[in-house]
Amino acid sequence: MSNTYDVVVIGAGPAGYAAAIRCAQLGLSTACIDKSIGKDGHPTLGGTCLNWGCIPSKALLDASHKYVQAKSEFAEVGIAVESVAIDVPQMIARKDEVVSGLTGGIGGLFKGNGVTALHGSGRLLAQCQVEFAPHEGEVEVLSAKHVILAPGSVPVEIQPAPLVDGVIVDSTGALEFTEVPEKLGVIGAGVIGLELGSVWSRLGSEVVVLEALEEFLPMADERIARDAKKILGQQGLDIRLGTRVTGAEVQDGGVSVSYQDAEGDQTLTVDKLIVAVGRRPYTEGLLSPDSGVNLDERGFLYVNDLCQTDAPNVYAVGDVVRGPMLAHKGTEEGVMVAERIAGFKPLVNYETIPNVIYTHPEIAWVGKTEQQLKADGDDYKVGSFPFAASGRAQAANDAHGMVKVIADAESDRILGVHVLGPQASEIIAQAVIAMEFDASAEDLGLIMFAHPTLSESLHEAALSVAGHAIHMVNRKRR
Ligand code: FAD
Ligand code: NAD
Repeated sequence: MSNTYDVVVIGAGPAGYAAAIRCAQLGLSTACIDKSIGKDGHPTLGGTCLNWGCIPSKALLDASHKYVQAKSEFAEVGIAVESVAIDVPQMIARKDEVVSGLTGGIGGLFKGNGVTALHGSGRLLAQCQVEFAPHEGEVEVLSAKHVILAPGSVPVEIQPAPLVDGVIVDSTGALEFTEVPEKLGVIGAGVIGLELGSVWSRLGSEVVVLEALEEFLPMADERIARDAKKILGQQGLDIRLGTRVTGAEVQDGGVSVSYQDAEGDQTLTVDKLIVAVGRRPYTEGLLSPDSGVNLDERGFLYVNDLCQTDAPNVYAVGDVVRGPMLAHKGTEEGVMVAERIAGFKPLVNYETIPNVIYTHPEIAWVGKTEQQLKADGDDYKVGSFPFAASGRAQAANDAHGMVKVIADAESDRILGVHVLGPQASEIIAQAVIAMEFDASAEDLGLIMFAHPTLSESLHEAALSVAGHAIHMVNRKRR
């Protein structure tokens, strides 16, 4: 095996594997090192996203949503189901099958594109050299013209609630319960808390979510966050804001959680506890002292807008660098770096990164929120359209939520789009395209959308910015 490459990538998550594949497509000799071991005990590719993140969580979200539909919604649309039961081991086994299919797929893509997959740990030395310690065999030093660091992130642990195998768990453990806990506690009402809290709540758990902040989903538009909290509450998520967890003790197989809220000291007894209080960049063992790469004050690898570190020809992408910890953000950074190494000049537009929370209804947004624009003192106008007025949403018996379009008061340029509703994750892509092309709300209003579709609600919300929506009574008529 050669130990000299044009590019060595450390990390085969969505940031690293995309970078490696694009490098190879561009004719660069490329190796990608990853140390993950899958549930089956074998090396696996795909990082957090494919193994313990996006994909397995969505498999369980989709399965649990189907269960809710069969149990509670089919009857309303005229489908009688005699009995509906959950088979958790089958649900988990199917999730694992999806994961192994997709992680194996990355192996296939590496082979097909000519990326050398190296299973083991990578450590950056000085001068673009990389120490590779394989799972089996001798350590060797690889030489590269360029190195891309993509080691990702790991869950944050908190001192009052240390993990206890199978009982107090992080997101990875919460994807592996073998039965539905009767009572489930979740620390953190962020993306993971809401998604995995929803999974187990749909399957029958009594779920209490303890959130330190007074505000629910502060990064989302206030109106959308308020409506989402109400709907999730109706679904059974007991979200308690302004709570500070002070301890968690395993007792008789369950957990006694102590916390403080405005009323004082409280106790909660649950069967399982999920700790979902954020993720941190993972850099353990990644850098030798003379690598030349620096960390920022929060422990992320320091990079500029082009993902260049302080060491020449060393780049870093994905969760380990500033910006939202999202798979698609990492992928775009990986592709940008690969193309820049090959001499092209692409950029990542950090202003149009879509965010999605895969609850039901889904919550999705891109661009600025109304509260951000207010705080910045920007003049803006708003149009919105409720799914209750959408023919397609009504036909599908899935008509909660709304689409909200925010545009610049003067230029009409779209500044932000916020969706709470069915297929919000798909609808938001259209808003991203519009914003990438610097569209105005009027531009979006002038485009023809197929009827009946959920996407028409985006069209109507854009029209409603100027008071032109057809299927609602507009406040401003012109
Ligand atoms: P990772 O995916 O973390 O991959 C890094 C890889 O590098 C790992 O395999 C790691 O083992 C390896 N590695 C680290 N250090 C070394 C080393 N020194 N040597 C060799 N290998 C090393 N994001 C979304 O956009 N949408 C979602 O729906 C979504 N859902 C999520 C659900 C959950 C439960 C979780 C936990 C996360 C979710 N995320 C989601 C976030 C998403 O998983 C991350 O943003 C994404 O995986 C980051 O990609 P990455 O390539 O930067 O790092
Ligand atoms: P998060 O930052 O989304 O939410 C963590 C929440 O925990 C916050 O609301 C925070 O205020 C709260 N918190 C922090 N410390 C606390 C404490 N001691 N007690 C109570 N509450 C506390 O983080 P996450 O949900 O763990 O997700 C981690 C990352 O993974 C996120 O950055 C997210 O972008 C990514 N992710 C994305 C998706 C998606 O795109 N659908 C899904 C899952 C995860």
